[in-house]
Amino acid sequence: MSQGLLRGMAFIDFPNITSSGMGLGIRRLNFAGLAKVLTSDTTPVGCAAYIADIGSRQELFRELDRSGLKVEAVSPGKSVDGRLIFDLIVGAYRDFYDVGILASGDRDYVRVVQEAKRLKKTIWVASFSSSIAHSLKSCADKFIDLDKYVSEISFQMYPTICVDCRKSIEVPFKPISGRPVYCRDCYKKHPKTKSI
Ligand SMILES: [Zn+2]
Repeated sequence: MSQGLLRGMAFIDFPNITSSGMGLGIRRLNFAGLAKVLTSDTTPVGCAAYIADIGSRQELFRELDRSGLKVEAVSPGKSVDGRLIFDLIVGAYRDFYDVGILASGDRDYVRVVQEAKRLKKTIWVASFSSSIAHSLKSCADKFIDLDKYVSEISFQMYPTICVDCRKSIEVPFKPISGRPVYCRDCYKKHPKTKSI
């Protein structure tokens, strides 16, 4: 994928993308892959994932951090959309980007997309085709259909069995024979091995 001259900044509505991805059978998103898909054809200047209440999900936080994404954790009770809208519009006013890439299918973003376009920004919207609001898709300068990138933005899951409790589980790596794999609960008793 080539890098263009336009500065691309991506804003990922994490709850929206993960729940619509689940609907398509995506069990585990590959965040680095998603960031790459969103900002391809631009010179990436930032990619942030907006998440509610990360306190209880430190594992997720670490994974996002490793993917090179900026994580914007919204306090419990506060709206993820509100924070994302704020950053997208401030970024437009202050000229932090040329292309704002919004990853969400939620029609609540229509007004902010229109506003950013009034500020002469190009706005692309990325979503799964089954969960994109028509009004959002039609006001975007380009629609990135995530259905076409499922292999890039998700990890392949492999079915296996927890060696402790014998429960059927799925893991994002190919289990190697002789190497025990545990479910999330049993993993807590074996912290040095791989879990789901
Ligand atoms: Zn188990």
